[in-house]
Amino acid sequence: MKILVVEDEKKVAGFIKRGLEEDQYTVTVTHDGADGLKQALEGDFSLIILDVMLPKKDGVTVVRELREAGKRTPVLMLTAKTTTEDIVSGLDAGSDDYLTKPFAFAELTARVRALLRREGQDRGAEITFADLRLDPVSHKVWRGKTEIDLTAKEYGLLEYLMRNPNTVLSRAMIADHVWDYAFDSFTNIIDVYVNYLRKKVDKDFATKLIHTVRGQGYVMREG
Ligand code: CA
Repeated sequence: MKILVVEDEKKVAGFIKRGLEEDQYTVTVTHDGADGLKQALEGDFSLIILDVMLPKKDGVTVVRELREAGKRTPVLMLTAKTTTEDIVSGLDAGSDDYLTKPFAFAELTARVRALLRREGQDRGAEITFADLRLDPVSHKVWRGKTEIDLTAKEYGLLEYLMRNPNTVLSRAMIADHVWDYAFDSFTNIIDVYVNYLRKKVDKDFATKLIHTVRGQGYVMREG
């Protein structure tokens, strides 16, 4: 599997490359955002590890432009910042996960494996709920006849809700299933994502399908 690493700190980039190569991944490294975006658009990568603070083009802009171009390659962002707003801006731009520097290599590989596993396992028959339809092979989603364009994480969240209809799912369960790890103090990121999903799935339709259960979590049900 091919992984693109976009990181201007050469020491950090080298450390990531060596470690991932030991785990049998094929790794391409680039040191600025403009070249990172070009390679991400042209290459056939299974995953992109993207630093936020980069010369020429910052990581948030890179992932935004990548998603605008229709590329859905999973993106793991590396951030030196730890405030929720900074993390949300990266996730909002279309990245799938983040890791705060400095990090242990074992943590990086755990995130990499989780993102790649999620990409690989999404196979199977179409799932339907009410007039919502999800195709796990193409990752396409429709509400009635309207196709709904979702980011990778929004898709993951919707699939989890649709596979467990009429069941209240706690934020901890959602973090564990959709992100593969506990969010600790960042559980409000789940609320942010549910709001993104609602805007796309429910806002323009009479029947709301995603509901908040106060103090418990979220549930997919009709009305
Ligand atoms: Ca940097």
